[in-house]
Amino acid sequence: MSSYMNLSGEQEERAMGIHRKAIVVDAHCDTIGSWMETPSMPTFGAPTRRAERRSLGKRSEEGAIDIPRMKEGGLGCQVFAVWTAPAFYDSPLKRAVQMIDAFYLEVEKNLDSITMCMNHEQIVEAVKKGKIAAILSIEGGEPVQGGPGVLRILYRLGVRVLSFTHFPRNLIADGSGELRSKSGLTDIGTQLVEEMNRIGMIIDVSHINEPGFWDIIEMTKSPVIATHSNCKALCDVHRNLSDEQIKALAEKGGVMGMNYYRGFVETDLNKANLDKLLDHIDHTVQLVGPDHIGLGSDFDGGGGLPGLKDVTEIPNITRGLVARGYSDEDIEKILGGNFLRVFKRVLK
Ligand SMILES: [Zn+2]
Repeated sequence: MSSYMNLSGEQEERAMGIHRKAIVVDAHCDTIGSWMETPSMPTFGAPTRRAERRSLGKRSEEGAIDIPRMKEGGLGCQVFAVWTAPAFYDSPLKRAVQMIDAFYLEVEKNLDSITMCMNHEQIVEAVKKGKIAAILSIEGGEPVQGGPGVLRILYRLGVRVLSFTHFPRNLIADGSGELRSKSGLTDIGTQLVEEMNRIGMIIDVSHINEPGFWDIIEMTKSPVIATHSNCKALCDVHRNLSDEQIKALAEKGGVMGMNYYRGFVETDLNKANLDKLLDHIDHTVQLVGPDHIGLGSDFDGGGGLPGLKDVTEIPNITRGLVARGYSDEDIEKILGGNFLRVFKRVLK
């Protein structure tokens, strides 16, 4: 199979043309933690060196995301996740608020390059002005266990995407890491689905266990997304989605973001690389067509592959899709058009 590495001159020109024209969206990164005084250590994933507290505006050799590197990689819209590490479970809402504060402080220092966005219109407007569009999400519902009232306040603070769990069980649902669980959503969880549908907030089904996933699919009136999950058929781990789940997500009009974490791309970590990630895209397209795939890097939370070590290497995805014969239109959708469609439909 032809690879992203051996494009003809003409293919290279075409790939870069598509990449420049597209609004490239990344639905998940854990970069906020690297700006914090007390960093969130990933509990799962490749060890990330955190010798130095990084910042959004300054290019670093560590981690994967900062503004100079986002510009180099042609990234248009980044969803920044607030992930409360288990070390903060005694007071997750406090930790989440501190992370949202860190996000605001970093964005405000870099307003010439990045804008916080609440909806689709603002994203398009920011990109038109040559800025990166930033969206705030919460990964793991621990800060929202107080129910819809807490959710509404976090929405007012700018949070537009929420996944109900990380790996463990909480008061909303059970994470996919609870291997013995047979439980779906709690009452708080069902209230959150209803309220998120009502106020226009996007439900993220990455990390939730299967019974919780099916409860959400049954209840939600809006499309849902999986910000950073791959195909179980190609890499059988609990964090990936089965073909049945992918079909259900697609039927709801949703999108799944391809995750660059080695262990979710290939169970044999030594074999994980960008071409293997592209196999996940091929598989999803064969299953449900090209309208339900996006990118969800998991950068700065363990994501990164040979050929895709940081955000500067995102154009390799475009090269790979060109090498595999995808049309310009489908590549644009995969790079960001599909996620933008859901943002437009759900966010107010
Ligand atoms: Zn995650």
